[in-house]
Amino acid sequence: MRNFYYSLASGSSGNCSLIALGGQYILVDLGVSVRKLKSVLKGLSLTIDDLAAVLLTHEHIDHIKGLATFVKHHDTPIFASCGTAEAILCKYPDARDRLRPFYSGASFAVGPVTVQSFATPHDAADSVGYIFEADGVKLGYATDLGFVPNPVREALTGCGTVVLESNHDRYMLETGPYPYPLKQRVAGPRGHLSNADCAVLAASLVKNGAQRLILAHLSEKNNTPGAARLETEAALLAEQLHCELVVAPRDEMTEPIALGNKGAFSCCPSA
Ligand SMILES: [Zn+2]
Ligand SMILES: [Zn+2]
Repeated sequence: MRNFYYSLASGSSGNCSLIALGGQYILVDLGVSVRKLKSVLKGLSLTIDDLAAVLLTHEHIDHIKGLATFVKHHDTPIFASCGTAEAILCKYPDARDRLRPFYSGASFAVGPVTVQSFATPHDAADSVGYIFEADGVKLGYATDLGFVPNPVREALTGCGTVVLESNHDRYMLETGPYPYPLKQRVAGPRGHLSNADCAVLAASLVKNGAQRLILAHLSEKNNTPGAARLETEAALLAEQLHCELVVAPRDEMTEPIALGNKGAFSCCPSA
């Protein structure tokens, strides 16, 4: 098994990613139905039993939609920050035996993979992002954050691949169909990252060695894949920076994205 990232779903209707790293299969968030998860895994010749762990970023429904069914039928460990675990237990007491709570900011291991968590500013109980490290690969994951605090920037700096929220175009949000309070929530410091803020961080990360960016959690109403890509591309171009740029689709799965130093990986997941 090589090291790959797969986005199964990304956006306000569901978020779920599969990371194949260090011989482990790790799921980040479970915002798809168990039926969809099973079907995607089947396409990769895998089953849920092959998953080493599920890691949750926070308890919003677009990140845990499949969790209630999942915990009834599978004993895969589910890692969540203490606040997220508590919020989940209130809704789904069946998850108690599966949950592995950790303090936000703690690091832990999933087999040979080192996982570092970091707090994200979002209107959830105790939301986090993650850094995954194994086999010389360093992958950062940060979605659902209203802005980029310094500790988040520092955590992501030095990652070869970063999955980064590019939620909305500010103008589209301002002039779009959302009611005013929701617009304020999305644009607020505990809401979601705009394309513009994503682009600024993207340029800084690429300057510091990131080779691959996956733009994620795009809003359906307040963004387009083209607008998200364009804003980050423009920021990179302005500083003559280059990297592989993928926009994660809302409902479809991405092609497998090879993790590793450029030129040293294959495009074929079964190779
Ligand atoms: Zn979300
Ligand atoms: Zn959220």
